[in-house]
Amino acid sequence: MESGLRNLHFVLIPWLGMSHTIPMIDIGRLLAERGVTVTVVMTRDGAAPLSPTIAQIASSGLPIRFATLPLPSVEVGLPEGCETGDSLPSMDLMPNLYRGSKFLRQPLEELLREQTIAPSCIICGARYPWTPEVARELGIPCFIFQGFGSFALLCMHNLYCYRPHERASSPTEPFVVPGLPFHFEIARQQLPLQFQLLPRFTEICNEVREGELAMDGVLVNSVDELEPGYAERLAAASGKKVYTIGPVSLCYKSGRLDMANRGKKLSVDASRCLDWLDSMKPRSVIYVSFGSFSSFAPAQLMELGYGLLASNRPFIWVINGLERFPGAVNQWLQEKLEKEGDSKCLLIRGWAPQVMILSHPAVGGFLTHCGWNSTLESASAGVPMATWPLFSEQFLNEKLILDVLGIGVAVGVKTSMQQMRQSPEEGARISREEVAKAVERLMDGGQEGEERRRRAKEFGEKARKAMMEGGSSYENVTRLIELVATKAKE
Ligand code: UDP
Repeated sequence: MESGLRNLHFVLIPWLGMSHTIPMIDIGRLLAERGVTVTVVMTRDGAAPLSPTIAQIASSGLPIRFATLPLPSVEVGLPEGCETGDSLPSMDLMPNLYRGSKFLRQPLEELLREQTIAPSCIICGARYPWTPEVARELGIPCFIFQGFGSFALLCMHNLYCYRPHERASSPTEPFVVPGLPFHFEIARQQLPLQFQLLPRFTEICNEVREGELAMDGVLVNSVDELEPGYAERLAAASGKKVYTIGPVSLCYKSGRLDMANRGKKLSVDASRCLDWLDSMKPRSVIYVSFGSFSSFAPAQLMELGYGLLASNRPFIWVINGLERFPGAVNQWLQEKLEKEGDSKCLLIRGWAPQVMILSHPAVGGFLTHCGWNSTLESASAGVPMATWPLFSEQFLNEKLILDVLGIGVAVGVKTSMQQMRQSPEEGARISREEVAKAVERLMDGGQEGEERRRRAKEFGEKARKAMMEGGSSYENVTRLIELVATKAKE
């Protein structure tokens, strides 16, 4: 049986970005733990920041291998070494990255042909519409992993089908998202790029959608118990097999420091971070992070800082992209937060061990941009959220957190940031008072806060059970492997 499984070979090719690659490496790990052979394919510069994770997995003895393909970044107009969405200086370069990604097809085909264990299936990231064709040529199935949750995927599927966003008279006019079990209004500019009707992205968005429609199934980093009924609805609406196999971040079982190696090289010593958290009361700390690449203008950053200080609670604040900021901002952070904020504030400039932090009992709330990984990681750690969506599908995730799950409070953001980084000249859209108020509500010890915490804790427990043998996500991985095994025999 075991050796039979080794002959099943899953090839994973994550889309070019940290928040796509990290959960896909987790998926690779989960599959390899079941005994199948896994190859994770990345680009050279996309893989480089993940070397700690890769080294850790490589030394684990699991049947998982990493391969890299060349991406002609300079030829397609990308700055040298920029091979992931999060490393781009501007979203305007996204089409170049997409163009570059098409050059991965031929080397991928060569790589697949060279394998001693013939590939049994491809699991591809969000924007490789050509992979189903590659898989068909090899006679194997192709699954897509878009990195969104079931609720967001269902909303997006229904928008594609019924196109209410095209009838809205402006980017800010609200319209109803069809096909949901409740009334939900959203405006075009709060939706992902493909629904913004931007001519320069039309061709790419159409190609990507064509690719989605050609896939044999959809893998979702989610858990049925967290998004009840939404994976089923998505399967019924799209006619595709949907496998919810998460929360994949729970694949880290061997301890906190193991979790610390997930993702990029840390910008803080993990043990120091744990000592700091250990010195705090249970559920007293707010964790503040806006994902792997979004960043604010200096004015908003400082306003947020003042709001956090005003809340008078201990917090860990992760700030990326500080190198783009004037020295005065860094100085302000040092003086105002690290000196005056004293032991109340742990500032992480760069990459934080997020999953490790969220799973610490001292953390009582997460001020988040509602990226899907962050949302799921928080819910599966039983941590309620204050929601500050920025762009992409984050407003959809906010809806889920607030109104479907009831495990969050809104900071009150109405308009999308549009770009992944706020322009440096922009002012603060959210005031320090709004920040402090949201944090206050989030950490509130009253009945409302208690209820939210209870629900979040319940989700955390359900998520853990789902990943254990017999749990829904565990069994969905089994079903996926069985399907691939059956196809391999045909
Ligand atoms: N992450 C992390 N440390 C950081 C920033 C991000 O570990 O300092 C991880 C986080 O745990 C999550 C991913 O990066 O898995 C961010 O994904 P998400 O979907 O939340 O947001 P995005 O980066 O796509 O905006």
